[in-house]
Amino acid sequence: MRETLRRLLRQRKAAVGGSILLGFLVLALVGPWLVMDPTELVGQPHQPPSRAHLFGTTGQGQDVLAQTVVGARETLAIGFAVGALVTLVGALVGITAGYLGRRVDDALTLTTNVFLVIPGLPLAIVLGAYLPSGPMRMVVVLTFAGWAWNARVFRAEALALRGRDFVAAAVVAGESHARIITRELLPNMASLVASSFIGNTLYAVGAQVGLEFLGLGDVGAVTWGTNLYWAGNDAALLTRSWWIFVPTGLCIALVGFSLTLLSSAIDELTNPALRAPPSAPVPAKAVEVSSEVPTSGVLLSVRGVSIEYMTASGPSRVVDQVSLDIAPGEVFGLAGESGSGKSTLGYALLRLLPPAAAITQGRILFDGMDVTALSAEAMREFRWSRVSMVFQSAMSALNPVLSLGEQFHDTLAAHGGSSRAASYARAREMLTMVGLKPELVHAWPHQLSGGMRQRVGIALALALEPKLVVMDEPTTALDVVVQKELLQRVVELKERLGFAVLFITHDLPLLLALADRVGILQAGKLVEVDTAERLRTDAKHPYTRLLLSSFPHLGASDVAAPTLDVLEHAALKPAQAALTGGRR
Ligand code: ADP
Ligand code: MG
Repeated sequence: MRETLRRLLRQRKAAVGGSILLGFLVLALVGPWLVMDPTELVGQPHQPPSRAHLFGTTGQGQDVLAQTVVGARETLAIGFAVGALVTLVGALVGITAGYLGRRVDDALTLTTNVFLVIPGLPLAIVLGAYLPSGPMRMVVVLTFAGWAWNARVFRAEALALRGRDFVAAAVVAGESHARIITRELLPNMASLVASSFIGNTLYAVGAQVGLEFLGLGDVGAVTWGTNLYWAGNDAALLTRSWWIFVPTGLCIALVGFSLTLLSSAIDELTNPALRAPPSAPVPAKAVEVSSEVPTSGVLLSVRGVSIEYMTASGPSRVVDQVSLDIAPGEVFGLAGESGSGKSTLGYALLRLLPPAAAITQGRILFDGMDVTALSAEAMREFRWSRVSMVFQSAMSALNPVLSLGEQFHDTLAAHGGSSRAASYARAREMLTMVGLKPELVHAWPHQLSGGMRQRVGIALALALEPKLVVMDEPTTALDVVVQKELLQRVVELKERLGFAVLFITHDLPLLLALADRVGILQAGKLVEVDTAERLRTDAKHPYTRLLLSSFPHLGASDVAAPTLDVLEHAALKPAQAALTGGRR
């Protein structure tokens, strides 16, 4: 919590918004003692600013400065009180509904929805007519009219959190509902609570000023809203007495501005991805690469590629002058410890790098075509039809609300595929090809196991018959038995369809069993590239040897029967025939 506060203070938006708001709070607290009585008639009406009355006088002859300063107190007090109450009521109702579910949820959600469809303004007017006047009336009216939106937001958040493992763990541990709501759910919504509070305060100030301006507040009180109400009534606009309404208007605008800045600062603080990088790295210019660019027998040629991320502490080079070639139909393995830049390189092939990253050097040639120089439109056409990708987490790579057939249709239609019927036919064919039942075309992702989803991911990647498939740790999330079946299937399909594979994994033994050639990436540098056989027996680079020695089955004594041990390590033994037999 203290760390969060410290970071909030370091942020520019938070600093500016916070200081403005703090200034107004101090003004509201001590200001009224420093100025004259705002209701006293002290001078001629409609007097422009003068030495006696720095902000001039109102249409009735009161001091505008005093009215502006004193008005801050009630306006901000009501604003923050309503902001807090609306957040509290909304959070309690929403979280209770979302967490308890069933009948409680039905009843509370129905109530919430009823409140949402009642227009706020008439409700406020009717309520206002029955309540005794005074600041509390405004608080009650605005809370009544505003809590329902919050309940909806908090309910959605509670529903999302309810399914998480830590809540299940708390239930298993025997914690009470009240404790789970206050100790497990609420702390996880801290940022939502904070940004809701700021947003609700903004709503409260705006709605309060609006109601009072219409004369629906307590017109005898001194608030920013009634200031504007009297300015209107006393014909400030007709007489062009701008000094009567501009100070109050400016204050309202500034408070709104500071609250908006704060809420955006909270968003960025709790979601670092929203923060803009200082400036993106400069992409490589299309320089001719002098080194011999092989044209025949090479499908993908990566020439001296460097990739940099822009971070707060400056550019950081994550891929450093990597060159490699992949032949048609080849399985090229890319190994290296986590963080060595494997995914970054894989994503770069499809130009899927995040905005903070750029290829700062080198070229990527596919079939002789410069991928780094393709236009956005050409790139869209290129992706998936020439190079496709299987993502590590099939759980999140599939859209949970679309049936499998629809996901195939989306992909096929994006590349000029024809009818939905044709897409579904292709989907059945592809599902069969990866060893799934064609009827699954109507299934939703949540109905499949992890292994089945990853098969669907592979089927989708192959749907447009690409020449290269980038597989980024496609089996890391799966158990070894499923992993084995899946890889067997990939090798079979590769033999049949003839695509090349860039297989990315930290599991070197797996690669040695699967790949034709393997490249070892260490801290962004490709330190060694060789055939799987040679790497197994005489790896040259110390880092490769280190990687190999970290897998006990791959010691030097295993040289006699390396493949067998390798496969044993990866629990691939039964697949050995399929893997080796099919490939060599
Ligand atoms: P691997 O796939 O080999 O595990 P990655 O390619 O995902 O590695 O990451 C390589 C390096 O890039 C890591 O050191 C990581 O810290 C850095 N990195 C990844 N994403 C970003 C980012 N958005 N900003 C800065 N650095 C990043
Ligand atoms: Mg990775």
